[in-house]
Amino acid sequence: MNVLGKVLLALLPDDLESIFKFALLFVVVPVLVIAVIFAGPITAFEKVPLINAEQLKWYIDAAEKVKEEFKMGPDWRELVAVDAVRFEQDFSKASPERAYNLAQMFIKNVGEVVTEKGLHFPVYKLLSLDEVLNMLDFTEEEKDKVKEFLEFLKNTDISSLLDSGVPDGWVPAEKTLKWPVPGIYNITSGFGPRIDPVYGVERLHAGVDIGAPAGTPVRAALDGEVAYAGWNDGYGLVVFIWHNSNLETRYAHLSSIAVKQRQIVRAGDVIGYVGSTGKSTGPHLHFEVRIGGKAVNPLDFFK
Ligand SMILES: [Zn+2]
Repeated sequence: MNVLGKVLLALLPDDLESIFKFALLFVVVPVLVIAVIFAGPITAFEKVPLINAEQLKWYIDAAEKVKEEFKMGPDWRELVAVDAVRFEQDFSKASPERAYNLAQMFIKNVGEVVTEKGLHFPVYKLLSLDEVLNMLDFTEEEKDKVKEFLEFLKNTDISSLLDSGVPDGWVPAEKTLKWPVPGIYNITSGFGPRIDPVYGVERLHAGVDIGAPAGTPVRAALDGEVAYAGWNDGYGLVVFIWHNSNLETRYAHLSSIAVKQRQIVRAGDVIGYVGSTGKSTGPHLHFEVRIGGKAVNPLDFFK
């Protein structure tokens, strides 16, 4: 028997009272300690929408589209706050269509006017957030949560999150790294600063999105070895390349992969093709640079 087994056996209680003490020491105390450690983060998590820049744009666009159509519409912040509660913070359930449908709920047709020439025009009214929350059958508790999210959004500057990070017509300056899709410099979503002080780390937009037609060849940014080539959940088909012990680049949402794990690649080699696999709304390359495992802004290497 190994040492750990012997220790556990020695600690095992032989009467009922000891069993309680044993449970108290090894179950209840650790659970309480964990609860205390995570109490702070959980509170913060409840007030901050865990949304990324791409998803945020869906809500802003939806609110704008409705405003254009009806000459009135909700604040996009209200839409995000409603869905943060409705989707229990899982914004992977969100989509441009769902955001637009929600925005439309704020518009109510209240009749029509008939002109002298006999033309009929509908008359619309903008509903309040409370009226929409009632339509969605939100409980009082859920309504309060929506208002907490709304409060956070109104007091937070999210412009940096939506900024692509480069001016129009920008062309990368290639120094250490080569641009992964030569000739295509259309940044659709920049490297996002985390908006959640605790849990947002995973929601951080860890790279840049480069809008490119499906099938565009994707090239290695630097000499290296393929660390991984295959499926990676929301990132779809991906290629990870290690360049040295510290530097790694990642290429996501590929339509197909042109390299194998452990393969040595040179800068500029085709490693795959642009696609829209995983959680993606259209063909683009998600390009990431990591130093010591930590995502950094890829554009910093091209300025
Ligand atoms: Zn991305």
